[in-house]
Amino acid sequence: MSADIQATLRSPKGYEVARRALEVMQANQVWPTARNFELWVHYISEGKSPLAEEIDRLLAAGEPITESVGEALAAHYLPEARLNGGILEAGDVLSKELQSVTRAIESAQKSSEEYGQELATASERLGGDHAGPVKAVVANLANATRKVQGENAVLESQLAETTAELSRLRESLDQVRRDAMTDGLTNLTNRKAFDERLAEICEQADAGGEPVTLAIIDIDHFKGFNDAWGHQIGDQVLRYVASVIGRLGAAPRLAARYGGEEFAIIFPAENGRMAMTVLEEIRVEISSRALKRRSTNEDLGTVTVSAGYAERLGGESTVSLVERADAALYASKHAGRNRTSAAPPLAAVAAA
Ligand code: C2E
Repeated sequence: MSADIQATLRSPKGYEVARRALEVMQANQVWPTARNFELWVHYISEGKSPLAEEIDRLLAAGEPITESVGEALAAHYLPEARLNGGILEAGDVLSKELQSVTRAIESAQKSSEEYGQELATASERLGGDHAGPVKAVVANLANATRKVQGENAVLESQLAETTAELSRLRESLDQVRRDAMTDGLTNLTNRKAFDERLAEICEQADAGGEPVTLAIIDIDHFKGFNDAWGHQIGDQVLRYVASVIGRLGAAPRLAARYGGEEFAIIFPAENGRMAMTVLEEIRVEISSRALKRRSTNEDLGTVTVSAGYAERLGGESTVSLVERADAALYASKHAGRNRTSAAPPLAAVAAA
């Protein structure tokens, strides 16, 4: 995301820009992915740019802004377009602001309801049989009460509408945030979010004196498999391996796509022995599944994975932890693949 757009989203008019961008996206049935959100923030905030003109032209021609059209627009007009901390931060700020507005509205709604009930009770009490001027005062109060209750009802329905609109907006922003942290092919956490989470988890572990173990898993001979069967089947293998890793690495663990055919799992509060058990389960499950080409039922054979893990040493940096897990992975590869290895101790890495 370009620096000027980040500045726009952080500025006082950021909320308005984001709201209008999401509104226009919704009106044109554009799926709220992070890239589309960025495109439409440019569209809203830039006035007459080449991008805005191209989008206007597509809309006028009735052409839907599909995923691939959005991709082509971003590639052509926003060559620097890349989701980074800026959009997450801006989304965070907006989401928090919206949450507090929603809470304020909900509490206003509650007190207006209570006020209405109090007035109704007072109206009943005042409705008794009184004579002369007292009766007239009671009638006036009862009328005033009914009027206030009517106004309250209008206010309540307006508040309910606004609350619903805000919660829709927040859902859209949450979707944009989720999308920015997820790998599109495998649905696992992406590399950028993984790096951030690893740093956070290590910080928490330092504070609580807990262990953390990091594993890196790589599909064996994936390139050969891809070359032999084509990228489409290659992608399905990635999805299959990711599905096993995602299931056994589910929260409180964190499973991520670390690179092309590389995956990672963070094991918060778990030591190397516990991680080893899970990694072996993953390895055995993957290697025992006979994969099929689904269109023809042709046998694709099996794939295997190699894994390496490192249990974090007190205060160790994330860079060193990743290096040691990586070294363990390469030990598995060099020992013949389809196996899991523990990292060498820190001193051995430093001496190497
Ligand atoms: P997918 O094709 O979207 O399938 C999602 C899930 O639907 C699979 O999760 C599985 O539970 C079920 N499923 C779909 N098609 C079949 C089928 O023909 N037979 C059976 N028994 N179940 C089916 P799963 O197994 O975790 O796989 C996740 C992804 O991994 C799949 O997504 C696909 O992209 C890939 N995959 C898994 N196994 C194979 C395979 O044998 N051949 C190919 N080409 N891809 C596979």
